[in-house]
Amino acid sequence: MDIPDRLKDRFAAGTQYIGGRLRAGTSGRTQDIVNPATGETLLGYELAGTADVDAAVSAARAALPGWAGATPGERSDALHRFAGVLAERAGELARTETLQCGKPIKLTTEFDVPGTVDNTAFFAGAARHLQGQSAGEYSADHTSYTRREPIGAVGSIAPWNYPLQMAAWKILPAIAAGNTVVLKPAEITPLTSLLFAEAAGDAGLPAGVVNIVSGAGRDVGEHLVGHPDVAMTSFTGSTEVGKRVARIATATVKRLHLELGGKAPFVVFDDADVEAAAHGAVAGSLINSGQDCTAATRAYVQRPVYEAFTAAVADLMAGVRLGDPLDPATDLGPLVSFAQRDRVAGFVDRARGYARVVTGGEAPGGALERGAYYRPTLVTGAAQDSEIVRDEIFGPVLVVLPFDTDDEGIALANDTPYGLAASAWSRDVYRTGRATREIQAGCVWINDHIPIISEMPHGGYKQSGFGKDMSSYSFEEYTQVKHVMYDNTAVVRKDWHRTVFGDR
Ligand code: NAD
Repeated sequence: MDIPDRLKDRFAAGTQYIGGRLRAGTSGRTQDIVNPATGETLLGYELAGTADVDAAVSAARAALPGWAGATPGERSDALHRFAGVLAERAGELARTETLQCGKPIKLTTEFDVPGTVDNTAFFAGAARHLQGQSAGEYSADHTSYTRREPIGAVGSIAPWNYPLQMAAWKILPAIAAGNTVVLKPAEITPLTSLLFAEAAGDAGLPAGVVNIVSGAGRDVGEHLVGHPDVAMTSFTGSTEVGKRVARIATATVKRLHLELGGKAPFVVFDDADVEAAAHGAVAGSLINSGQDCTAATRAYVQRPVYEAFTAAVADLMAGVRLGDPLDPATDLGPLVSFAQRDRVAGFVDRARGYARVVTGGEAPGGALERGAYYRPTLVTGAAQDSEIVRDEIFGPVLVVLPFDTDDEGIALANDTPYGLAASAWSRDVYRTGRATREIQAGCVWINDHIPIISEMPHGGYKQSGFGKDMSSYSFEEYTQVKHVMYDNTAVVRKDWHRTVFGDR
């Protein structure tokens, strides 16, 4: 069987996962999933309609009492089994992610899939560590304590850049805390979210705890956000769509968690190890073809090392091997779609009028022409207020700008509406200490850029959103705190009743 036949067979029952089984969407509209490395259609499927969202929300609501009522130990056991099933299916998950996104197989095998398995195992443990902060007699006549409770059926929306990991980040903390979830993946990349949900079911999580609706953003996404039976919206995607989602969620006073766009600065001070910084900049800007919300996008380099850094980056970029994402030797695959490739090319083409494209800036020819490829691209000479410096490009493009004083470097790093991630490169602990304090971002790396870890939070400052994914901090989003207060006196007329009854 060739690849499309295998996938058709695998998803023969449909590409919606509702109430514990795969089934077809009912919108009457079809969507093609295209392999961006070849342009070949992998699978055409029927998109979810609003009726499918309603069915998924009903399934999530029906599963809620049982799942929320399970003990932390029972939820933890189920999540441990879930991690085991995912690990057994690592090969299928990696191949499917590579096919639908164009990611190099070494990235999906070494990063996306093990990261997801580890995240699942982390939340299996964390499920038993939900903590209330206080209990005691804060008034002499009462005993108080807090209960940390799930919120309900959560509606989550995920982007296409890391479909498997984003499904994991959205679903795991929610269900570990006793919520149930309806997740809408990006309609061009739903397949690994479905495999993830199916693995949850096969691991014994009850039907309805995890549901996937594969549908379009405007109709199905907005229906999920506005749904009266959905208690919370958790959205990862662009800042523009996030603002719209926020407006809709606010109308029903939903809990809201927004993980939005980024434009990460990469600040190189003049005492940095320039070779290490250049390697970090190339890896950090090209990972996942630059379609990473934390990717290094703006390198600010102190004048004495600017030339050496720029030359080293150009050299390293020239050595990156573009190719078939299924080939383990490939470093850089295509972008996720031809539309995304053309969007990236548009930014670079417009920049030629005001900046210098040092390397890249074009699609490769030959055998790669049929895919959505774009060469690693280095741009210099752009002004701080130009669109290539300010806007999220989401492609394999790094812009390098010089700076003079430390003050200026940090000010430039902060000069953007975004604040998701940043890095600073120096051997001087006082400089790096200052950078970690003063750069406004949810994550600041020192002498590295990109690594994440399940135990640590991920989330934005400023217009990169609010709330945290991963780590125990994510429980702040997915739980609500209840104050319980007991009277200790058994007195009929309590002291404070005087305010109503007087001294009668
Ligand atoms: P996008 O905002 O276009 O879409 C994200 C999701 O929202 C998709 O599932 C889409 O179908 C859905 N959607 C679109 N319009 C909608 C609407 N009106 N109502 C409800 N849902 C709607 O983003 P994208 O292009 O898929 O992904 C790239 C973006 O995601 C980048 O901006 C990137 O920075 C961001 N991102 C952020 C993080 C983070 O952790 N902060 C992580 C990954 C990606």
